[in-house]
Amino acid sequence: QAKHCSGGAYCVYAPDLEHRDDVSTTMEGRLKQALARNTFTLHYQPVIDLRTGAIRGAEALLRFGAEDCEALGPGLFIPVAESSGLIGAVGEWVTAEACRQHVAWAAAGLEPVPIAINVSPIQFRQRRFAQRLADILRECGMNPASLQLEITESAVMDNADDAAEILAAVRALGVKVVLDGFGTGCSSLVHLGSLPLDKLKIDRSFVQGITQDSTSRAVVEAVIALGRTLGLEVVAEGIESGDTLAYLKTHGCDQAQGYFLGRPLPRDEFARQFLSKGSQS
Ligand code: C2E
Ligand code: MG
Ligand code: MG
Repeated sequence: QAKHCSGGAYCVYAPDLEHRDDVSTTMEGRLKQALARNTFTLHYQPVIDLRTGAIRGAEALLRFGAEDCEALGPGLFIPVAESSGLIGAVGEWVTAEACRQHVAWAAAGLEPVPIAINVSPIQFRQRRFAQRLADILRECGMNPASLQLEITESAVMDNADDAAEILAAVRALGVKVVLDGFGTGCSSLVHLGSLPLDKLKIDRSFVQGITQDSTSRAVVEAVIALGRTLGLEVVAEGIESGDTLAYLKTHGCDQAQGYFLGRPLPRDEFARQFLSKGSQS
């Protein structure tokens, strides 16, 4: 249950069972309501090419502007969606919304960038995941090559054979796959080499340690080298300073994301700041 507390306001509550149940029941109700009333939103954070400085993509991050205007982070409500069986519906909403947004930006004459969405391990393992993804892409008229799925190490490493099959089906659609939070789980390097992936995202705990400890630097450099060997792009997340950015650039990291380069923004604000007018979609 500690997960429910990471960065969440609910840490102030006494960790007794009754309270926890109250919180999740209420939260579950609110999640259902948000689905029914379509009050979830996505914010978008830019992903920048470290060689050219150009924008290469956007990560869509789920926001839950509750009725009472209390903003709850996904670190708090995603675990509730997972434990209450709502994650499938939430995940499909996120997928469809990201696709609709991409198509809408192109229709508005903007040059949209590829969008990355986060996929819960539970959602990823649901039956017909790839089929549902294909349906949504078709319904939205989305170019699959402009969609990336961010999955965690635990989603692919527990039962790697099944995972490889799902990933292959996803990539057969033309959708790209990013391994998120890389370095925090327990990836087997043997499996990593055989999994159909496109990109490794170095976890921000290592990225933020770059300026502080040599262990983090060693991990970051090893992941960059690993990515190169396996032919995968490497993106670093959580860049909060120019020093960190310079280090990553010097050490050959491909892409970067973080508050220093751009915070997650509501869609219109993101488009205004980061999307250029273009003819191409
Ligand atoms: P993540 O996928 O690793 O996303 C990155 C998180 O780091 C985001 O937090 C983002 O706002 C934050 N971040 C970005 N740059 C910086 C930085 O420079 N410094 C710091 N300290 N933080 C930074 P957020 O939006 O609260 O999301 C937390 C996690 O919730 C995500 O981690 C992801 O695992 C999950 N999540 C978010 N949206 C979704 C979703 O639509 N579906 C699912 N299943 N999970 C989601
Ligand atoms: Mg992510
Ligand atoms: Mg991450």
